[in-house]
Amino acid sequence: MSLIITSPLRGWATTLDGVPDPVFAQRMMGDGVAIHPLGDTVVAPFDGEVLTLHDAGHAVSLRSAEGAEILIHIGLDTVMLKGEGFTALVAAGQRVSRGDPLIRFDLDAVALAATSLITPVIVTNAEAFAISRRTTDCAIGACEALMTLVPVQAEARRRSDDGTIVEQTVTLSLPHGIHARPAARIGEVARGFEADVHLMKDGKRGDARSTVALLALGTGFGDDVVVQARGDDAEAALAAVVALLATDMGEGKPVAASVVPTATVPLRAGQIGGVIASPGLAIGPAARLRQAEIAVAREGAGVAEEGAALLAARGAVRARIAARADSASGSIASVMQAHLALIDDPELLAAAESRIAAGHSAGFAWRGATHDQIAAIRATGNEHLIERVDDLVDIERQLLSTLTGTPIDGAAVAAGAIVVADDLLPSQLVTIAAAKPAGICLARGGPTSHVAILCASMGLPALVAMGDALGTVEDGTPLLLDAELGHVSPSPSAADADAFTARLAQRAARRAAAQAAAKDACHSADGTRIEIFANIGSVEDAALAAAQGAEGSGLVRSEFLFLGRDAAPSEDEQHAAYQAIADALPGQPVIVRLLDIGGDKPAAFIPIETEENPALGQRGVRVALARPDLLETQLRAILRTSPAGQCKIMIPMVASIDEVRQVRQVVERLRGDLGIATPVEVGVMVETPAAAMTADLLAAEADFLSIGTNDLTQYVLAMDRGNPAVAAGVDAMHPAVLRMIGETCRLAAVHDRWVGVCGGLASDPAALPILIGLGVTELSAVPGFVAEAKQIVRGLTLAEARAHAELALQCRSAAEVRALARAFEETRR
Ligand code: PEP
Ligand code: MG
Repeated sequence: MSLIITSPLRGWATTLDGVPDPVFAQRMMGDGVAIHPLGDTVVAPFDGEVLTLHDAGHAVSLRSAEGAEILIHIGLDTVMLKGEGFTALVAAGQRVSRGDPLIRFDLDAVALAATSLITPVIVTNAEAFAISRRTTDCAIGACEALMTLVPVQAEARRRSDDGTIVEQTVTLSLPHGIHARPAARIGEVARGFEADVHLMKDGKRGDARSTVALLALGTGFGDDVVVQARGDDAEAALAAVVALLATDMGEGKPVAASVVPTATVPLRAGQIGGVIASPGLAIGPAARLRQAEIAVAREGAGVAEEGAALLAARGAVRARIAARADSASGSIASVMQAHLALIDDPELLAAAESRIAAGHSAGFAWRGATHDQIAAIRATGNEHLIERVDDLVDIERQLLSTLTGTPIDGAAVAAGAIVVADDLLPSQLVTIAAAKPAGICLARGGPTSHVAILCASMGLPALVAMGDALGTVEDGTPLLLDAELGHVSPSPSAADADAFTARLAQRAARRAAAQAAAKDACHSADGTRIEIFANIGSVEDAALAAAQGAEGSGLVRSEFLFLGRDAAPSEDEQHAAYQAIADALPGQPVIVRLLDIGGDKPAAFIPIETEENPALGQRGVRVALARPDLLETQLRAILRTSPAGQCKIMIPMVASIDEVRQVRQVVERLRGDLGIATPVEVGVMVETPAAAMTADLLAAEADFLSIGTNDLTQYVLAMDRGNPAVAAGVDAMHPAVLRMIGETCRLAAVHDRWVGVCGGLASDPAALPILIGLGVTELSAVPGFVAEAKQIVRGLTLAEARAHAELALQCRSAAEVRALARAFEETRR
């Protein structure tokens, strides 16, 4: 049953978007309508009860007999007037009938003193009522229909009225906050439960099933978000959403601004610089795209007809995106999933339907709903979320193109051309990519937008944020796109074009050689065996690593296999996971790191007391030794894998020899209990300065050492690896870290133990020659880097790597080391 809210004032009704106060414009208190008052008396908008009347007399809240709660806030910043100019005509608790006077105010005096007279009328219990229709952009009299409210999910609420309300605060580890892809995943998880789940941040509240509502929260890395669930399965829903939010959803650590690749050399005359969104080189003629606005009629042909048109168009767009998602993988598939969530987003849909109900056409309604959401996202001021606006615009264009039959620009790019555009939408890029362009140049966009991510995953060289200068590039102009140095050269000289073509040929040969030899064992140019392994966080990663030519896994992050759990994984579950990974890498070493819980990797199933300094507290082996039950369960699960010895054991966060001895003792006891005759290797992670400087002592106890450069860097430099404020400085190429690595190799050699690197530095092409030169003989990289890593190593002799590493150790800063590494690479081109 719907409820009509009538206008509490005579005036001009408008949307909240125009209210010059983000609290209202961003719907932090709820949705509603705003009125520019022409009358001086606020009257009751329904029959009900006065809930509150502010002492300053400028705001009143009421509850209707049906339970809808409304706030009427006269003007902005009027609380400062301390009651001056306002006369309360009712008191809290008083029953009122529609049209009863509530507050009278001195229109002129308040208008002069306040920031604005605009009066928001807000539905404050959005979890119970949604606005199905509203009157805006017209004059309105007091007691004329302003909004129609409908109960929200009456079914769910009835259930949840008897159910529980539970909530928990999570600190976001998502590097860019909740943008479209994480929002889609949160929605997917929330939809698996009956309970209503909301996320709240700084007084803003968003339905977990609504991507746009989550975007409008404006979250960023490290923000505290309250997750609230209400309903019968509230506990389970809360646990699932919290567990997901506690991860980085595979997005990695935040990229420090200084790490975002930009043009790295001064521009020559005529060159146009840009930000590197996807590295590579391309040569070809410019294919200029110009986006035309799709025109839609304002007036609709009737609610039923427009509703049906919207439904049909959404169905067609959904089917098209789903088909693309089915045939895609990786980033493309996840962008498509985010788009699928947007086409069915409950808030967008409700907003579009209410516009259709107000007499607008389906296209006009969808555009209006989209633009409201874009305004809300822009108002967050969060750069990364704003980059996601293009996903909303993309869905809008696809929908309007379907509704109006207007073809979307970009389908007719010639193969080998360099696409030049103001900006591109993800779906346009996917269409264009099918034509096999050579590269992309965009005047706008950012390096972390979906278009940038897609270009990188397709290996399509791309520059973004090139600015207005790109507008001077005419269709057909020959271009050299250098997305290694960050510029494009229009109409190059013949000599420049020749030199560029030679570079391109060199790169292509290198890539082809890397792929062709991806499965071959890796030796340096002078025959030293260097093992190239892959880091693994899931069984799928193991299959991917094998396909990329990994010679084993140098780091199975076992804690990643059991994310989102509130109970510790059983021995059998763990055994099944380790066995599946071992089976995916037949005959190859698989180094399973013992659960590395604590610090930046909390796990719900191992509660750890709140610590002032978690990175210096209970983590890694310290937790294992404090919880022998967990340690023994995991060790048995690893030891039971077959063939015996394929899975090796690695101990995280070691600081002293005693920790290694204790774990080794348990391993040997369990091996005896299980009757396993084959020795099982036990290695140590070098992640603390203590481990690095006592590598000889550890090597006497351990079968191998593997350097975790991510943690080693944070502990050597005393810079939190998860703190964006110091992220720019957390560079493992710092000479202090390199010296620690060199020392570890030197000390481990005393006992003839091999040293590997499984931290992020093993996936950094610039670092590989230095690491090999320092004495590292095993690299465990991200699966996608394995083939290239092998190729880099094959091009090196040990002697030249050692000489290069020696110079690196003498550098005075990470920047100097990186410049040295660039120069080294240059000499090898
Ligand atoms: C490291 O610290 O380098 C490492 C490999 O471990 P993680 O990144 O999982 O802490
Ligand atoms: Mg670590």
